[in-house]
Amino acid sequence: MAQADTNRLSLLNARREVSQGLRASEDWQPSYKRNSETFKALLAHEAQLESDVAEYLFRLSRNAPNYVDWAQYAGSLKAASNPLLNADDPVWAEEQLDLQRAVIDAITLIVATGGQAGELTYGIDLGISNLSKSVLEAARTQVAGLVTGMTETSRDLIREAIKQSIARGESVDLARDRISKVLNNPVRAELVAHTESVNAYQTGLKNFAVETGAKTKTWESLARACPLCAPIDGETVRIDKTFSNGKDRPSAHPRCRCGLIYNY
Ligand SMILES: [Zn+2]
Repeated sequence: MAQADTNRLSLLNARREVSQGLRASEDWQPSYKRNSETFKALLAHEAQLESDVAEYLFRLSRNAPNYVDWAQYAGSLKAASNPLLNADDPVWAEEQLDLQRAVIDAITLIVATGGQAGELTYGIDLGISNLSKSVLEAARTQVAGLVTGMTETSRDLIREAIKQSIARGESVDLARDRISKVLNNPVRAELVAHTESVNAYQTGLKNFAVETGAKTKTWESLARACPLCAPIDGETVRIDKTFSNGKDRPSAHPRCRCGLIYNY
């Protein structure tokens, strides 16, 4: 392995450890911490997810400049068209597969962790693991949505970068750099991991609650951590209904750290 790659990997490992430590000290609604084993597992898998997404974005930042028709870019300086390849071009199908492969393991583990937290909290053992059929299905569904959403956002970012370059009359080299920079973004990886881990965990917990016959659910928010959700703190609805914010379960918005209590 080249020296640069080795350095990059050891930096990534160090960053994963730091982010895991940071997350433990963040504001989490207390239901996440009820069992220390599942909370530890959630933090570890979320840090892994962040690192997987960051690595994917790094690869995309290297590939994406090749998805632009640069011959057309020169012409675009006066025309209004955009030289980015279409979403149905095979290179984008390949990107979607790469992202899917990158995140499926971490998401599957987090869905399983949510189910296991339910087992421990409510004292009902269903034998949930990352090999359970319901966990695998739920993870696949979530990953499909995540891949579509992230790819759309990436394409928007590239289109915007090209527009900026055209507006500035930049050379192809500068325009390629602009695309790479906007995509290789650790903050975006952190935001995606933050939000998707809550989604995956809450999906696993909900599947457990449905399977074990829970009747209602109560939204639990942390006012300090989640001011957007404070108005529905303590709201209780039937398990098959949505809350007054229109959501079936957290997350309600990016970086939401709310929890749910299921009532039997
Ligand atoms: Zn919230």
